[in-house]
Amino acid sequence: MTETTIGTLSRIAGSFVTAKGMLNAKMFELVKVGEVGIIGEIIRISGNTSIIQAYEETEGIKLGEKIIGTGKPLSVELGPGLMGQILDGIQRPLPLIADKIGPWIEKGIEVPAIDRNKKWQFQPIISKGAKVTSGDILGVVQETPSIENRIMVPPEIVGVVESICSEGDFTVTEPIAEIKTSNGIKEVLMMQTWPVRQARPYKTMLHIDTPLITGQRIIDSFFPVAKGGIIAVTGGFGTGKTVLLQTIAVWIDADIIVYIGCGERGNEMADVLERFTHLKRTDSDHPLLSRSVLIANTSNMPILAREASIYSGITIAEYYRDMGYNVAIMADSTSRWAEALREISGRLEEMPGEEGYPAYLSSRLAEYYSRAGSIKTLGTKDREGSITVLSAISPPGGDFSEPVTRNTLQLAKVFWALDFNLAHRRHYPAVNWFMSYSEYTSFLEDWFLRVDRDWQKLCGDARALLREEEELKEIVALIGADILGDKQRGVFELAKMLKEYFLMQSAYHPVDVYCPIQKTFKMLRTLLKFNEKISTAIDSGVPLQKILALPVKVGISRMKIVPSNEFDSVNAKLTADMDEQFEVLIQEAREEKNND
Ligand code: ADP
Ligand code: MG
Repeated sequence: MTETTIGTLSRIAGSFVTAKGMLNAKMFELVKVGEVGIIGEIIRISGNTSIIQAYEETEGIKLGEKIIGTGKPLSVELGPGLMGQILDGIQRPLPLIADKIGPWIEKGIEVPAIDRNKKWQFQPIISKGAKVTSGDILGVVQETPSIENRIMVPPEIVGVVESICSEGDFTVTEPIAEIKTSNGIKEVLMMQTWPVRQARPYKTMLHIDTPLITGQRIIDSFFPVAKGGIIAVTGGFGTGKTVLLQTIAVWIDADIIVYIGCGERGNEMADVLERFTHLKRTDSDHPLLSRSVLIANTSNMPILAREASIYSGITIAEYYRDMGYNVAIMADSTSRWAEALREISGRLEEMPGEEGYPAYLSSRLAEYYSRAGSIKTLGTKDREGSITVLSAISPPGGDFSEPVTRNTLQLAKVFWALDFNLAHRRHYPAVNWFMSYSEYTSFLEDWFLRVDRDWQKLCGDARALLREEEELKEIVALIGADILGDKQRGVFELAKMLKEYFLMQSAYHPVDVYCPIQKTFKMLRTLLKFNEKISTAIDSGVPLQKILALPVKVGISRMKIVPSNEFDSVNAKLTADMDEQFEVLIQEAREEKNND
């Protein structure tokens, strides 16, 4: 589609621009505003007047300047070269722009998301004469040391391969194959473009049955993430949403990470970049950045582009999903996106819904989250891919009844409620074990059973202990602690151990930051065994004070920082010591009784 002048600028109000003479404008058409060509999207048409939301600051543009229509909706470029990039909301590579014009982005500057000059070594895997359909893989490119880009037949193309390049180096705009379709010959490039507001097609949605392990003990045991799931992490300012999402982004066992910094502080995005650039996971030789795409639309960038960054991110996620990868997409925070929606709606003088958010807030959120899932991709051969969506929500004042939290919780199946009181006590991750939930647990049963056949009992007993503690606390609050016997005091002690030695997990300790799932369950088993032993010992007349002074307790407190390759032997010794030390106490108690 060619670009033509479709109107002139008649009013500028911040990022909202009114244009007249717009007879040929289309809703959501991407336009370039003014001489500098600021990128914007048409968000309202009435007669020949259009309202455009500009995705960049509008200072410097003047009334009477032209509006250029691109004839297409806001789209992203998809192809090799995305991995390892840091992009802004409208998919302009940030460091590249910095190289070109200094530290910050100049208005209207057009730097393609995907380098036009870089050559990629294309390796065909299909031959001339093959019948192909959308989603079939024509060939592969090693996009980064860790990711193979699979060059797919774009959606809506079915036909016979008329020609295909042999192995060689090509840019993303050189045709690598021709496909003969019923509508003539179509050239296929390594790059495709896709309108961001439209979900990319797939064959079928699959059942949820596999977790994505995050390495966070409380999450993997109590509130697990499913591959293809929707997860909301909510909490007031400073409760640890960003640290949790960033830690999970590093460790979650997805193939590809798309991380969107949306409306939060710019330095947090610098942190992500720093971590992803320098951090190598123990299971890989390559930095995380080589399998990630970062999108930054931080608080100092135009707020209207937040929406674009959310949609660009999910479209990029779909592109890699379609190749057969498991993608995890994190957005921090979706509340800032909702605030942008509120601002746009207010400017358009739409009828406000709750707390000034537009009435379509819930449908907008649903549109985004509906792009999560585990799917069978298009293509002749079966291939599976998934998108797991994790979102931070930052409700003002930590009030979970506000519209963004409430509407998201109708869509999310996992809810991690971060608790201000826990954070205040520096209990991190501050996931509240009573309020949080995962609706996937029963779907993941078989998978977890293969890791540990007792997993349900372990998690159930641990949570029961926490509930028991809570009930006892209420009793104590009513009638004081004096009435507690050693049994009940034991509950408090064990609950404390469970919290400190298991639930609390430091994002900054090299070992503790990631806990393998086997270790998670084994730690629980050892703690619960200690609990049983306390119970038996107290029944045999051992005073709680003596139990709490057992040397084995120190070992239990250190389980979390034992490297996973040493854990089994340390844990075996720990349980043997536990048996021995309790036996001694019980023996002593018996002897004392006999002496009495
Ligand atoms: P939020 O995004 O909810 O406003 P942050 O993620 O920025 O909160 O966390 C605030 C602070 O809490 C961090 O700077 C860090 O000091 C501490 N913190 C949060 N999570 C952890 C964790 N898992 N381990 C250690 N410290 C943490
Ligand atoms: Mg934050």
